[in-house]
Amino acid sequence: MTSKLGGEYQYGQLYRSEDKVYPREVKGRFATLRRLAMFVLLGAFYGGPWLTWGGRQAVLFDLPARKFYVFGLTLWPQDFIYLALLLIILAVSLFFFTAIAGRLWCGFACPQTVWTEAFTWIEMAIEGDRSKRMKLDKAPWTFTKIRKKVLKQICWIALALFTGFSFVGYFSAVRPLAIDLINFDANAWAVFWVFFYGFATYGNAGYMREQVCKYMCPYARFQGSMFDRDTLIITYDGERGEPRGGRKRGADAKALGLGDCVDCTMCVQVCPTGIDIRKGLQYECIACAACIDACDSIMDKVGYPRGLIRYSTERALEQKSYRLIRPRTLVYSAVLVALVAAMVASIALRKPAILDVMRDRNTLYRDVGRQGIANSFTVRVINKRNEAHSFSLDVTGIEGIQIQSETEFEIAGESVLTSPVSVTVPHEYAVGGQVITFELNSTDGSGITVIEESRFRGPTEE
Ligand code: SF4
Ligand code: SF4
Repeated sequence: MTSKLGGEYQYGQLYRSEDKVYPREVKGRFATLRRLAMFVLLGAFYGGPWLTWGGRQAVLFDLPARKFYVFGLTLWPQDFIYLALLLIILAVSLFFFTAIAGRLWCGFACPQTVWTEAFTWIEMAIEGDRSKRMKLDKAPWTFTKIRKKVLKQICWIALALFTGFSFVGYFSAVRPLAIDLINFDANAWAVFWVFFYGFATYGNAGYMREQVCKYMCPYARFQGSMFDRDTLIITYDGERGEPRGGRKRGADAKALGLGDCVDCTMCVQVCPTGIDIRKGLQYECIACAACIDACDSIMDKVGYPRGLIRYSTERALEQKSYRLIRPRTLVYSAVLVALVAAMVASIALRKPAILDVMRDRNTLYRDVGRQGIANSFTVRVINKRNEAHSFSLDVTGIEGIQIQSETEFEIAGESVLTSPVSVTVPHEYAVGGQVITFELNSTDGSGITVIEESRFRGPTEE
């Protein structure tokens, strides 16, 4: 039987299947903005791996080599603090923009919205607008229906697989990957991830759609806590619209005792999550603004002012003035500015080389006769720059301390050099436990200096 809500279920069943949502095509300011966002974001995503910078892929997260290339910047595992900082900046930005403009991210920039928009666009181009799609789904399996459904599936699968391929192209050099895939010679893991992400895109954007936002996305659940009375939300002006009802063109609504809502249900028909905004703010609303465009076009047709459904705030609806600057937005913007400044400064001041000094764990120290007491270390130098550099290593901190091994190194660009180093201290100064300082200086005039401290072990050490 059919439930009050429309879904099919049997008595005794706890699960009611979701009704399929057939959003109607909508035209207007926000639809244009959404399309524009879709083209820009998808263009950036699909085009990103093909950009080159300094002779190699501009954005490449090379996990096996543990190096991330972001245009001219090469990030090593030691630089993952920047990744953490970037994630914090993105989280604070989300809080900031949510406090100001509500679910702007959900409606215009979230990957789920953007790919759903692309998949729906293909669906509409092949199967037609809302009523045609509904009719087609109910129709028997004729040749036309099979042709349309097969064509849609081919386009969806092609886009999904290209999405999976582009995603993997950020982790594995995209050009060789493309050639290997064409020649059926690609690494099995790369093929697995292309299909995995392709399948996820196909499922989420083709079938799950609004259900991802309603049931799977955690942001939908807690975004309400980031709202306040000055947050922009998409709202239906009930005071102006109610009581709703149909009327003849040119009829005097006041005389009929009606508000401005003509109850055409266009705002419901265009909604990608299938809700009725006239029932008030609901967590299912992704703030796509499709209902604003739909209602504005109806208001234009019936000759009423636009804005029955509009961006507004709780305070503005109470006829009070809107406050953009308030404690919450001030705190978020201050934190955001501080984090961005910290990240920019730390990247600008980033050391072009790393020096790691590890003590030999097997021997505490060795008595090497006239040379004194020796300690063994393993020195690791990372040259983060693209070009080769020559370095010299020195040690200070104890009277008479000397390095007994190679102190001059030539290290290729983006390479690591690991070398055993023996350090001696005359007997009379080799107490043990003293702090010693290793200093690495470039000898090619590039002005690189890196310092690392360690401890010297000696016979009198506790
Ligand atoms: S209610 Fe309006 S803004 Fe919210 S999801 Fe539906 S169409 Fe988009
Ligand atoms: S589109 Fe506007 S006029 Fe039509 S039902 Fe929705 S709110 Fe009322």
